[in-house]
Amino acid sequence: MKLRMYINGEWKDSSNKAVRDIINPANGEVIAQAAEGTIEDAEAAIQAARKAFDSGIWSELTAAERAKYLYQIADKLEEQFEELVDLEVLDNGKTRGEAEFDMEDAVACFRYYAGLITTPGGETFEVPDPDIQSMVVREPVGVAGLVVPWNFPMLMSVWKIAPALAAGNTIVFKPAEITPVTAIKVFEIMEEVGIPAGVANMILGEGGVIGQAVAESHDVDAISFTGSTQTGRKIMQAATGNLKKISLELGGKSPNMIFDDVDLEIAVDQALFGIFFGAGQVCSAGSRILVQEGIYDQFVDRFVERAKNIKVGPGNEEGVEMGPIVSERQMKNILSYIKIGQEEGAVLRAGGNRIMNRGMDKGFFIEPTVFTDVKQNMRIVQEEIFGPVVTIQKFKDEKEALELANGVDYGLAGGVFTSDGARALRVIKKLRAGITWINTYHPTFVEAPWGGYKQSGIGRSLGTYGLEDFQEVKQINNNMNPGMAGWFKS
Ligand code: NAD
Repeated sequence: MKLRMYINGEWKDSSNKAVRDIINPANGEVIAQAAEGTIEDAEAAIQAARKAFDSGIWSELTAAERAKYLYQIADKLEEQFEELVDLEVLDNGKTRGEAEFDMEDAVACFRYYAGLITTPGGETFEVPDPDIQSMVVREPVGVAGLVVPWNFPMLMSVWKIAPALAAGNTIVFKPAEITPVTAIKVFEIMEEVGIPAGVANMILGEGGVIGQAVAESHDVDAISFTGSTQTGRKIMQAATGNLKKISLELGGKSPNMIFDDVDLEIAVDQALFGIFFGAGQVCSAGSRILVQEGIYDQFVDRFVERAKNIKVGPGNEEGVEMGPIVSERQMKNILSYIKIGQEEGAVLRAGGNRIMNRGMDKGFFIEPTVFTDVKQNMRIVQEEIFGPVVTIQKFKDEKEALELANGVDYGLAGGVFTSDGARALRVIKKLRAGITWINTYHPTFVEAPWGGYKQSGIGRSLGTYGLEDFQEVKQINNNMNPGMAGWFKS
């Protein structure tokens, strides 16, 4: 498979012909070669997007016309559903079930923004001057730079592409360098449905080079980024040159609080899903489980027993519940955190190793890993590991649960399990996080805002909020009785 960039309506190799091997994380095999873009390629994509935006070829279409394209893209994604699922499993490693969920959400996202953009927008105001009609209209920001990570290659791409295009922007999109395959399919579909050349551009390659170029460019009006907090800081700095509008969806270290009035089996089951779904490579993963003292021992025993039984293997194998880690680099990073946890004195109750048997030695598999007896200041409690590693802490009461839950720099997500409805809401309202769950973990919908407090980001994706990231707000004051201003008398 040869993967090229899409710039100004044409499929392009890198300007210096460089390529990068794309690896199947389940067996280490090369599945494709992708063009490795250069700064010149990034600049060509930015200029194509700039020209297309300034020409009005997209922004001046009616909302209904833009929506028609988005509906067509959704239909095509649906037609290619099975193929896209296969490709996502091949490229990212996730299980088929996980990839199917992503594809359904991607289709829903295009349809949602197609619908939303044609609903009434703007506002009018009653102002103290009876001659003035004051109103607000929403307009596209201009050229939007979109940069996404590898953990949900299709989903993260669509969460940005759909609202950016719906709002009338032109885009320069960059997938993660190691997982470009399904995003490229989205661009093939956009070409097929006839999105005009220059409106949607895609560059491939190293974030620190071409991603940085997009973040720095004065011809880019907005940057929407999803990735690590560390890279988010660089993007924010790079964006200062022309003070571009930024939205950042960053890392997390989310707490999952389990009170002792719960059904133990349900709580254990949900907490397992909270951390081991996607092999823990999920920004909102419930990677810190906090359990009330009355059920702590039973919870830990049952959780460890079930974690050890999770069936790990290649994502396309029947019955597999957890796939590999996305890359050798990420696997090594996770294993180094497991070592750090042991050195810090935490007790390893399950997992902790790379899986080398049953033909998995060529891939990047790690056992579901559980640490107990951790302290709040340990690195494995404070830092995002982004893998199948969870810490379990004990708490006495609501106050202590919240102190532990809020005691990290992140504030992306969190959950509470309790049968006391008043307590559930009381606790969630005190949790400093943007995405929260009561008696469940993970479900999320394109209709609702997605994003974090504290160092988990700035702005919100999805819902009406996600559209606003790609819109400017303009006030128009219209004098219905034109006349002299009368301020200067001479
Ligand atoms: P990353 O920050 O390393 O990379 C993300 C993207 O940014 C990639 O496309 C990369 O090429 C690009 N990039 C890297 N350096 C850049 C730079 N200097 N300028 C511009 N672009 C640059 O993150 P990752 O390892 O790919 O993804 C994992 C991280 O993403 C985790 O921290 C996770 O929590 C976060 N994440 C957050 C959300 C959310 O919604 N909050 C969702 C998914 C993932």
